[in-house]
Order: sequence, then C-alpha cells, then structure tokens
Amino acid sequence: MRHIGDNTHESSQDMELITPDLMRRFDIPGPRYTSYPTADRFVPDQQGEALIGALQARASGPALPMSLYIHVPFCESVCYYCACNKVITKDHGKVQDYLRYLEVEIDRVSQHLAGPEGELSPVSQLHFGGGSPTFLSDEELASLVARLRARFEFVPGAECSIEIDPRTVNGARLAHIRQLGFNRISFGVQDFDPLVQEAIHRVQPFEQVAALMKEARALHFDSINMDLIYGLPHQGPTSFARTLQQVVSIRPDRIALYAYAHLPARFKPQRRIDAFVLPGADLKLRMLDQAIETFLQQGYEYIGMDHFALPEDQLARVKREGRLQRNFQGYHTNAGSDLVGFGVSAISQVGRAYSQNVKTLAEYYAALDAGQLPVERGLTLDDDDLLRREVIMALMCQGQVRFEPLERRYGISFVDYFDEALERIREFESFGLVLRTDAGIEVSKAGWFFVRAVAMAFDKYLWQHADHHRFSKVL
Ligand code: SF4
Repeated sequence: MRHIGDNTHESSQDMELITPDLMRRFDIPGPRYTSYPTADRFVPDQQGEALIGALQARASGPALPMSLYIHVPFCESVCYYCACNKVITKDHGKVQDYLRYLEVEIDRVSQHLAGPEGELSPVSQLHFGGGSPTFLSDEELASLVARLRARFEFVPGAECSIEIDPRTVNGARLAHIRQLGFNRISFGVQDFDPLVQEAIHRVQPFEQVAALMKEARALHFDSINMDLIYGLPHQGPTSFARTLQQVVSIRPDRIALYAYAHLPARFKPQRRIDAFVLPGADLKLRMLDQAIETFLQQGYEYIGMDHFALPEDQLARVKREGRLQRNFQGYHTNAGSDLVGFGVSAISQVGRAYSQNVKTLAEYYAALDAGQLPVERGLTLDDDDLLRREVIMALMCQGQVRFEPLERRYGISFVDYFDEALERIREFESFGLVLRTDAGIEVSKAGWFFVRAVAMAFDKYLWQHADHHRFSKVL
C-alpha cells in the first residue's frame, strides 16, 4: 500500500506504516463531513426559521460572494447503486412544473437575501446537481440559467459547474452547456467494464465517454471531473485495472473515487444488486490501492478523501496553498462562501445555519403554494458547533489544526477544551497517523487514508450517542 501525500513512487516510512491490519483496524463507519454537524443532526424546521434568520443576518452584513446549488431530481432510469434523491421518469413534461416552482423558490429566498437597497450579493459559484441536470432539454437549461442570471449578479470568472450523465448528451449539447456559461463539468462514469455496467443498470461504453471527453476538451472547459466507484458488483482487480487505464488514457482534470456502500435497507434501488457478486473488504482495499497507485503514477495529486487532480487544476493549486474548502458538494475552491440551495432536498449553509428542503415534489410544490419556504429541517449552530466545524474542516481539508488561532478566537485552551478528543486520537498517534506538538495536530501522509476517522474524534454528537455504525466505512 502506498502513501498518498506525494507523487513519488518510492517506498517510504509512511507507506510502510499502512498494513492491511491497520486498514482493517481503522476502516470504521463514519460520516463524510460535508458538513458539521452532519445532516442527520438537523431538527424539524418547517417554517425555515434557521434559514430565514441566517439569510437576513447575511443581508444586513457585507455583500460577500455566495455559492448557489440547484437540484434537478429527474433521471430517465435508475442506477442500482444510487443513494441520491431523485425522481425516475420518462415524462419530460414534469420539468416545466418543476422549473416554475424553482423560480418561485428563488424569488422567495432572494427577498430574504436582499440588502437595504434591494441589492443581492454576487455569486462566485454555481453548481447544478441531481438526479441528472442533463434531463433538462437545451431550452429548459437555457431558461433556468437565464432566470438565475437575471436575478443574481455573477462575479467575472465565477465557477459554473454541472453534473453530466454521459448517456444524455452529445457534442452539440456539450457545446450548448458551454455556451450557457458552464466552465466545469463532471461526468458520472463509475466503471467501464460492461459486466459491471450491466449489473448497476448504467450502460455507457468507454468509446462514448471518450468521444464526449474529446468534445469537452475542444470546448475548453476549465476543469473536467470524472466520478468512479469501487466496490460495485462484479468488480475485481483485473477488470478494475482496465477501467483505471481507460480513465487515465482520457485524462480528466479531476477524479472522484468513491467507495460503494451497500445499504439496501436505506436505499431501495440497491435491493436490485446481488450481494453475492459484491467484492469483499479485502478486494475493495486492493482496488483502492490500485487506483491510488495508478493515479499517482500518472501525475495526479491526492487532494483528500476521495479526490485526485492534475497539478495544474485549480483544486490542486488551492490544496497546495492551504485554501481547500469542503461543503455538500465535496471539496471546492471557494473560500468561506455561504451556499444557498434550491430544489427538492437541496441543503443550504448560510452563516450559523444549515437548512434542508423537503424531499418529494408533492411536498415541495405544496410548501411553495402555501407561501412558505419549502424547508423540512435545519439547525442553528452554537459556538461549540462552530468551533468543532472549524477543527473538523481543517483536518479534512488541510490535514492539520493549529491551536493558537482557535484559542484566540474562541477564548479557550485547546488541550483543555478537547481533552477527550485528544485522548481519542492517541491511538492514531501511536501508529504514526497523527503527529501532535504543542502548536497543533497534523495528519501524517499515511494518516490521510483515515482522516475521516481522525475527524470523528472531534464530533461531539457521535460520542454523545455512540451511533457511528449508521455511516458507511471510511475507506
Ligand atoms: S446515480 Fe445519478 S443518474 Fe443514476 S439514478 Fe441516481 S441520481 Fe440518477
């Protein structure tokens, strides 16, 4: 097993630290920390009080740039590994209603966001996710983007990204997406092996994706990401090695490599996956190792958790500069900006508040018809939550926490305040995965494999309820 903190291919002390025993020892269930507290801690908030309070507080402060997220829930067919909030339908007529209600939500949220003169903060980042945003026709996408541009001012060079289902686009559609101002795209690939694709009900041959990749390059998108999953049915080291070679042959700027978590009791589509053809834990670790080796050898840099990027990609640059951020879309490059989400199940993170929308179309439409925000639950963070969020995000993004700035800002002694958490990370220290000094703690290069498990030591709610077994494993 090689370490993932640098791009040399030499063996090192760090690398030797990672043994299969160690991986088994620390491969425990835990959150992915796209937020802290994690979304399962949100409480019912049907009036959207947490969000409204945070939006209004924001409106009365300086007009700092913000991020927008638009959730498009529709997909034509279901992928059996899916754990997303989506609506499976072939009826494209449903889109018009959805877009109409989205506009109502955008207008209503904007009212709370408007400053004293009615002005709105500029937008520095826009992301379309799903479901499948490319379920929308060219005209529907254009009208939604036009609506957003009419309502919000975008900063020059704003990052505009969209998730692409390769089965729903061709070169002409990609050109249209580029022309709408999207400068980053993400292809959902998962695996190129035909047997695996059949078993997950997502057939998209390598040649099709490679051709799209070529078109995307010619259109000069700033960054092209590819999502992969290991641990899928029928995957094994031999076929996965072929997929990895195919991926690096078309050289996406970023690669997100996720572990498949088989939780059929929670996610209905996963019941269509035959558990007997899923690779076991040891095979999964071998495939993870293969992937890391392949990407590092091919010049990718390890960003954190599941992400790799070419050195010249902005994600790699901000990582090197210590400015990496994390939110509900994973790692990103937009320092300190609030995120406002629109659409079913969308999550917002504004100031001290988190807020999540209702999950079904019927509830979404009913709330908006009733003149409300379509919010289901939320949370207003107290000072302890804010402090722990900073610690956990510093670990997840920079791999280190410096005590002094936090002590100054929060008026605490770090070692006294976090004595229990520091006790919990002793085990990681004893295996060389975490280094502790008087000034702070740092995840070692080998420790990056287990950064989620290290962060868990600082999660108050996990230890209050001792319930981390509900989460997927950290590797
Ligand atoms: S994985 Fe994505 S494309 Fe597939 S069903 Fe789920 S949301 Fe739709």
